[in-house]
Amino acid sequence: MAHEVEREALARYLEDHHLKHTKQRDVILDVFLKAEGHITSDQLHQKIRSEHPGIGHTTIYRTMKLLCEAGLATERHFDDGVTRYEIEHEHHDHLVCTRCGKIIEFECQMIEATQEKIAARYGFRVLRHRHELYGHCKDCRED
Ligand SMILES: [Zn+2]
Ligand SMILES: [Zn+2]
Repeated sequence: MAHEVEREALARYLEDHHLKHTKQRDVILDVFLKAEGHITSDQLHQKIRSEHPGIGHTTIYRTMKLLCEAGLATERHFDDGVTRYEIEHEHHDHLVCTRCGKIIEFECQMIEATQEKIAARYGFRVLRHRHELYGHCKDCRED
């Protein structure tokens, strides 16, 4: 079975919180994991709807909230105000193309270390941060 580890993690979370384990939740989890990248609940709905017309927006939205709480997904909010979900993985930052909407992930040890240095200079303890660079990707830029 695909995504066995994640399915188990979800099952455990539901059990721990005395929540019902429905087939629908596994379907949504599968589609989400297969989609990769940064997906909105509308996009998930489009992918799910043909095969599972019974799964509506509300179910998808609620399940994604659950997946976030269970540590399987992370919610992202970029400038356009739309909530996107991505698979929970190591800390990273984003480049967002404002023309085609492409979202590129990057990770830079130097930036991470510099932030720590800056924070230390001000006696500030960083709990989290995010970098979002907005602009035009290499397919969209005209110069
Ligand atoms: Zn682009
Ligand atoms: Zn990301």
